[in-house]
Amino acid sequence: MAAEAPRCCEDCKKYMIDIRNITKTYKDDSGGYQALKGVSFTIKDGEFVAIMGPSGSGKSTLMHILGCLDTPTSGEYFLDQKDVSKLTDEELADIRREKIGFVFQSFNLLPRATVLRNATLPLIYAGVPEKEREERATASLLAAGLDKDHFNHKSNQLSGGQIQRVAIARALVNDPTLILADEPTGNLDTKTSEIVLGTFQKLNKEENRTIVLITHEPDIAEHAERIIMIRDGVIVEDKKNDHRKNAMDALDRLEKRLSKQP
Ligand code: ADP
Ligand code: MG
Repeated sequence: MAAEAPRCCEDCKKYMIDIRNITKTYKDDSGGYQALKGVSFTIKDGEFVAIMGPSGSGKSTLMHILGCLDTPTSGEYFLDQKDVSKLTDEELADIRREKIGFVFQSFNLLPRATVLRNATLPLIYAGVPEKEREERATASLLAAGLDKDHFNHKSNQLSGGQIQRVAIARALVNDPTLILADEPTGNLDTKTSEIVLGTFQKLNKEENRTIVLITHEPDIAEHAERIIMIRDGVIVEDKKNDHRKNAMDALDRLEKRLSKQP
């Protein structure tokens, strides 16, 4: 059984994520490389946070820990008040299935499987019956902005933006309260990036899902309500974003600019 977080104050109960002094050392021949050097922050239920930092700063390492794909070398991680920093692989897998949806830069779709099949995959692994799988995948694909005409296309017949929508839909099928996106717009043009970010903003605002968006680009981070900056495995800044970008407005402006071009 995982321990409950110490209830220091009423505030602690509101945190979905509460990490305290997390470190991660990758072992190598020269004794190991410390990718995270004591990282602490909290994220409330329903927040939209960006974690921004240059390449090699420890973002993906942090995301793997937040997503229960890996455990820290030291420190504590309370997810919904439950200490998950010392769970076994199997227990971590249960937590991921229950609560977390992942969107990666490298999409990880099966190229020759249809859109619908790609979206149902996590449910096959979770042992959900076929009829329910199709219903849930259909709802997720529609929520991610993919229209029904594309459901039977193979993913190698889709545009970059459509592929990323399938990846978002796949992250949504287990109805996660937490969505972790690691450089989700890394391979996309500006317009498609705004569409994808708009989908995240909608899922956050209308469905109250907590979003952690990992990026090295300030323009992308500006879509979050709060920006945590990481550098060399240390948090160097954690601030409210006073210039939050609305993806739908940005898209409108982009469309107008494009329509004026000869
Ligand atoms: P980011 O996502 O910000 O680019 P990462 O978290 O992927 O950064 O990597 C942080 C540092 O840890 C880098 O110096 C990287 O080379 C190192 N690192 C990442 N994964 C491993 C690993 N499995 N083994 C050894 N070193 C790693
Ligand atoms: Mg990375």
